[in-house]
Amino acid sequence: MKKTNNHIPFNWPYMTGKELYYIAEAHFNGSLAGDGPFTKRCHGWLEERTGCNKGLLTHSCTSALEMAALLLEIQPGDEIIMPSYTFVSTANAFVLRGGVPVFVDIREDTLNLDESLIESAITPRTRAIAPVHYAGVACEMDTIMAIARRHGLQVIEDAAQGVMSSYKGRALGSIGDLGAYSFHETKNLISGEGGALLVNAPDLSLRAEIIREKGTDRSRFFRGDVDKYTWQEVGSSFLPGELIAAFLWAQLEEADRITQTRLASWQRYHELLEPLEAKGALRRPIVPDELQHNGHMYYVLIAPEFDRQRVLDEFKRHEILSVFHYVPLHSSPAGVRYGRAHGRLDITTRQSQRLVRLPLWIGLSSEQQHRVVEVLRNATGC
Ligand SMILES: *Cc1c(COP(=O)(O)O)cnc(C)c1O
Repeated sequence: MKKTNNHIPFNWPYMTGKELYYIAEAHFNGSLAGDGPFTKRCHGWLEERTGCNKGLLTHSCTSALEMAALLLEIQPGDEIIMPSYTFVSTANAFVLRGGVPVFVDIREDTLNLDESLIESAITPRTRAIAPVHYAGVACEMDTIMAIARRHGLQVIEDAAQGVMSSYKGRALGSIGDLGAYSFHETKNLISGEGGALLVNAPDLSLRAEIIREKGTDRSRFFRGDVDKYTWQEVGSSFLPGELIAAFLWAQLEEADRITQTRLASWQRYHELLEPLEAKGALRRPIVPDELQHNGHMYYVLIAPEFDRQRVLDEFKRHEILSVFHYVPLHSSPAGVRYGRAHGRLDITTRQSQRLVRLPLWIGLSSEQQHRVVEVLRNATGC
């Protein structure tokens, strides 16, 4: 489609203006490999802002989840309970170790893992639960943690979308044994590709450092705790270089302002769409009490009597890019091959066919948001 001035992109990466300055600083420092001064600043930020025991930058949330599977020593046949309504990386990370994703249905309100279905999905092979905080809105973590403790399971939070969100005052990613963040260009705080593993269980911290540094105790060596570093266990290279960390640092410094700006745009959509919800055209996102979200995503669930494709076509005709996701993992080819569906997953199937994501990025104007809402109004005749 030819771009005109009316074109509204779905996402537009926001930069604070300091990224290149910090990259230049890293360049002049002559320290380009991982775990240099900018990486340390980012780690400090993660530990301070989330309360995790150890925050470690990774290449992506995908690689943080892969580290988590190594760290928990997932073995072939081990089962991991997760939603089907998620990005592929939640499942892939465990399948790489021979693990079996067990897909559980989601809640009607938040589209998060339905905690009331978890216990019936547990078998003697279950090792872990991987809740995904969809749209930066927290899962019911108290219940999930209680189930995990009762059955001796570990919890890995996929908090890719949940940076700067909280559950009862606790940062997402800091509640389970491990948490994974994404700094991908489409998320709130970005470094192009990027992520972090939050290690909350103190007894996993040392091994996390080892796995991230090719299976060596290089970090311990640099701290002066050992006089040489050696191959300790199976690992890989999960750490990003300093240029990425320098870029990310510029974003972390502005994390509060970025989050506030996104929340303001989120709130504007929410208010503009109230009349459409009242007329039955769609359902707006539901954020339970005691949760603070981060304005990561604004989506609507188009009412069943309307054709979602028609809505998407109308957006396209008006040069507004809107997208939908996910194809539920339990119904995708690899999900069928490597995973197992627990029950019918009716809500997952139904909601994934109704969901439409609206453009949301820093710099999106109020006038543009009005145009988006106008298209929704016309497409549903409300
Ligand atoms: C974005 C996303 C990921 C993957 O993050 P990357 O940093 O791109 O690897 C994983 N899980 C969820 C829920 C996501 O939204």
